[in-house]
Amino acid sequence: MKVDNRKILCSNCNAINHIEDLRCVSCGHYIREKIPNIDLWSIVWHLIESPGKAFQRIIQSEKKNFIILLTFLVMFKFFLNSLKLEHHLHSTSQPEQYFFSNFLVATVWLVVYLLVFSFIIHTSLMQYGTKLKFKSIYAILIYSMLPYAILLVVFAPIQYAVFGSFWFLLNPDPVVIQPHFTYLLLIIEFFGLFFSFILTYIGLSKFTSTKMIPLISSLLFHILLWAPLFFIGLYPF
Ligand SMILES: [Zn+2]
Repeated sequence: MKVDNRKILCSNCNAINHIEDLRCVSCGHYIREKIPNIDLWSIVWHLIESPGKAFQRIIQSEKKNFIILLTFLVMFKFFLNSLKLEHHLHSTSQPEQYFFSNFLVATVWLVVYLLVFSFIIHTSLMQYGTKLKFKSIYAILIYSMLPYAILLVVFAPIQYAVFGSFWFLLNPDPVVIQPHFTYLLLIIEFFGLFFSFILTYIGLSKFTSTKMIPLISSLLFHILLWAPLFFIGLYPF
């Protein structure tokens, strides 16, 4: 039985337990089903259908499967997006100019950022008495970026099939070749990023009983993630 998002009430002795606990801290009674692994297909489906339950399974799973694979997919997608963003922000310059700085941001920055953000949430929760493993928080964040991975795996091959290397090199701009299709893909892209924000919000809501803190945190998470790309445009290295 659940008390709020973060607590499970023991049906045997009524003790309050943390969401990650498998057995009651007071009497040892099993308080939830054991989840040894995350099944990728079922969790993808759950994240679309019922994200709250999906995040609960991710938190309660003993192993945090696929977080490394997801990190790599998100990294690659973030890199492709960063190239396109630089191209549109600075339409007169060559995308090659930003290639290296974008690559660094997409790889080093993304991973360091995810780790630091998880660490900040982890220590803030500890201060307010919510016990949650660091890797559960990292898993919540990276699974909330699942739309990035879907956009990469599903839509990047379609873009490549339609535009060939134009799409990647942006010369000429895909808008010139296939305007309607480019705008359609852009809408899908924005929808994916917005969905990722919603998932982050729902995921972070699992840690607190308020609505404001997860809302501000998820907004900050996505804004700060993209912020360095605007600086690269100003100061490419
Ligand atoms: Zn108990």
